[in-house]
Amino acid sequence: MPDRTPYLAANWKMHKTTEETERFLAEFLPSVPEEGAEVVVCPPFTSLNTAVELCFQSRVRVAAQNMHEADDGAFTGEVSAPMLLELGVHGVILGHSERRQYFNETDEALARKVPVALGAGLEPILCVGENEGQRDADETEGVLTRQIEADLAEVPETRLSEVVIAYEPIWAIGTGRTATPDQAQEAIALIRGLIESRSPEGAAAIRILYGGSVKPDNAAELLSQPDVDGALVGGASLDPADFAAIVKAAA
Ligand code: PEP
Repeated sequence: MPDRTPYLAANWKMHKTTEETERFLAEFLPSVPEEGAEVVVCPPFTSLNTAVELCFQSRVRVAAQNMHEADDGAFTGEVSAPMLLELGVHGVILGHSERRQYFNETDEALARKVPVALGAGLEPILCVGENEGQRDADETEGVLTRQIEADLAEVPETRLSEVVIAYEPIWAIGTGRTATPDQAQEAIALIRGLIESRSPEGAAAIRILYGGSVKPDNAAELLSQPDVDGALVGGASLDPADFAAIVKAAA
């Protein structure tokens, strides 16, 4: 059994001002175990600086929620990898379903963004997942295959293990309808198989997370599945005690 360090990431979406970020971290940081799972918080752009400064003396790292693939240019409203690195940000969520759905994020754009993030030294957290209609129509395998093949097409085999993948079925995000542990395991094993067809070493080492209504009371069972290496947590990560309980469930 390969030794993959569990990975727990908090996606705050468009929540928390800098003051709220300070209050969250004041309560959350002392509750993070001294060793064990990797813990990442992903605040909105405006709170990144505050989060990096407050997490500096801790094991908790900070990731952004999006990034443009160009270093600079006429892209009003966008933020680049060098800008995130300058702040001391460690990683970046890419391809979250809300960005695909509301902001037209495409697989073509992600095929450019993932290698740019890696090349810049940012850890990409690539999100993939099917919607409810696709699951009902038995298209989950096809959707995940298309997304993984397209989004990672330009990542060299030797660097696949540096990507973190989050399997997030859209029907489970923010709905309270969590995938069953079997559904999460099955989809994540499929994704690992896709990585294995390019790199067996990469597949053994890459962390693949589950995301979708993870809560303190369902985290342990989901995280106990053999291929589930952690969780990307939305709603429950806004509460420091709830996110701390999920981090502890990974132990
Ligand atoms: C997410 O937005 O990545 C997510 C998993 O949200 P939630 O936990 O609220 O379903």
